[in-house]
Amino acid sequence: MQIDKLLIDFRNARDWGQHHTGPELARSLMIEAAELNRIFQWPLMERPIDETALADELADIAIYTRYLCQKYGINLDAAIIAKVDKNAEKYPING
Ligand SMILES: [Mg+2]
Repeated sequence: MQIDKLLIDFRNARDWGQHHTGPELARSLMIEAAELNRIFQWPLMERPIDETALADELADIAIYTRYLCQKYGINLDAAIIAKVDKNAEKYPING
């Protein structure tokens, strides 16, 4: 996939692969999720959401998610589909 190649090339050009252990990638993902949460801090204050910052943090989360998927050979699209199936079983539609 083109995005995965972009990410690998970016990392390899900086020799950062040595830092991309599973725990470090997971920790970085959590840090980026916290940065996302920061955007929505104090929701009662009337201020517009910084959409550029929101996009940046979502991209950071996606980047670390993809690095983790690459590291452990996970097809993210297939994993999402499988998880939605599990969720559908766990939370059936009441009707
Ligand atoms: Mg960030």
